[in-house]
Amino acid sequence: MTISTINPATGELLKTFEPLKDAEIPAKLNLAQQAFETYRHTSFQERSQLLKSCTDILVQRKADFAKLMTIEMGKTYKSAIAEAEKCALVCRYYAEHGAEFLADVPAKTDASESFIRYQPLGIILAVMPWNFPFWQVFRFAAPALMAGNVALLKHASNVPQCALAIEDILQTAGFADGVFQTLLVDASQVAPLMADPRVQAATLTGSELAGGSLAAASGTQIKKTVLELGGSDPFIVLPSADFESAAVTGTTARMLNNGQSCIAAKRFIVIDAIADKFEKLLLEKFKALQIGDPMVPETDIGPLATKKILEDLDQQVQKTIHIGAKLILGGKPIPNNPGNYYPPTLITDIPPEHPVAKEEFFGPVAMLFRVPNIDAAIKLANDTPFGLGASAWTTNPQEQQRLINDIEAGAVFINGMVKSDPRMPFGGIKRSGYGRELSIQGIHEFVNVKTVWVK
Ligand code: NAP
Repeated sequence: MTISTINPATGELLKTFEPLKDAEIPAKLNLAQQAFETYRHTSFQERSQLLKSCTDILVQRKADFAKLMTIEMGKTYKSAIAEAEKCALVCRYYAEHGAEFLADVPAKTDASESFIRYQPLGIILAVMPWNFPFWQVFRFAAPALMAGNVALLKHASNVPQCALAIEDILQTAGFADGVFQTLLVDASQVAPLMADPRVQAATLTGSELAGGSLAAASGTQIKKTVLELGGSDPFIVLPSADFESAAVTGTTARMLNNGQSCIAAKRFIVIDAIADKFEKLLLEKFKALQIGDPMVPETDIGPLATKKILEDLDQQVQKTIHIGAKLILGGKPIPNNPGNYYPPTLITDIPPEHPVAKEEFFGPVAMLFRVPNIDAAIKLANDTPFGLGASAWTTNPQEQQRLINDIEAGAVFINGMVKSDPRMPFGGIKRSGYGRELSIQGIHEFVNVKTVWVK
């Protein structure tokens, strides 16, 4: 894949970058390793100060960063501003809580003194996707750097300017040379990087294919990985729910980021008795969405990030219709437009056992399934290879407990939209990946949990 910026709203090629040559990579690794030897000895206070500087830069220059995100991957400018602000928040969160999360933990044993100490591992490779081009990187980098690791970023090929801007933020904040480096490399250069003895671990956010490939490369090297992969989150609506609120939130949850979010509500699962009413409400909200130029404040849905994503999504939709599903709204790319625009789309009557019903739709396309009762809703919710998040709507406390206990996912949100929050762990089960980001769990992924016993 060429490393370039192509504006998804216009199709215009704005900038192309040469990938690093294989011969240039060892110097980057040397620099990272040297940086680690010094950086690992910095105090929590110093690291916290550096992260606070990142917060300041992100807040002060959020307009510049937002523009870059919008131009490179098409998210609305207003959502890109919110993304820069959320990155500032995660930096502040680990600046304020990192020392407490990494403090020695005493343990009572037969020793005169025993405790757990958390220590950095070294160089961590981060392979990141384009959909939240700043947030995905900062939610990894803030805890990893707070713990004393150093990082190499291989970002998605369509967001090179975001990748370079992030490196610049960390350098401007005062992190020493080599503590965080962006490598403009091709996906094929990842496995050799993993094989380098200086790289200790890796994290990848992206597709199952990329995750499996990185896990295989890491497996033979016996190196730890965290994988944040795809999802096909259910959005369950039961009869006691507030339908209006569920439809408003469901629309946001499906259309967020032009429909390109791993934790988007992708499968609406609704009880028969209320399905017609809910479908009507959802349709109303979908129809009210404004599609267009992502820089315009009134726009709700901008273009998809690449032409290929648009084509793949459309193929999935056509396949669904071909097997007998009913198209209620949308269902075709917006014609005569050089941008990658796909309209809000609603599909019902999908045969639930068909493989396409279990796939991830990465765009503004919602599937709506009707089920007779809560048992069938939970069964269908769990009937995918994924297990990232789930949103369920009911005011009945017993039903809430059943949903919390029986849904197979890394997160269950009751009467709310699935979202990431620095204070709560984030990650999936099944083919959505393993490991956790954010909160105390996130900062403990890339550390040596050292047992210390002293007599
Ligand atoms: P992708 O193709 O897997 O790309 C993600 C990253 O992996 C990019 O940097 C890509 O580089 C790299 N990559 C691709 N193939 C690779 C390989 N064989 N070895 C090593 N690296 C490789 O993902 P995408 O389709 O752009 O992103 C969307 C997917 O990410 C969706 O499935 C979405 O659900 C998932 N996602 C998950 C989360 C989560 O937290 N669970 C968050 C966001 C997105 P190139 O760009 O150079 O190919």
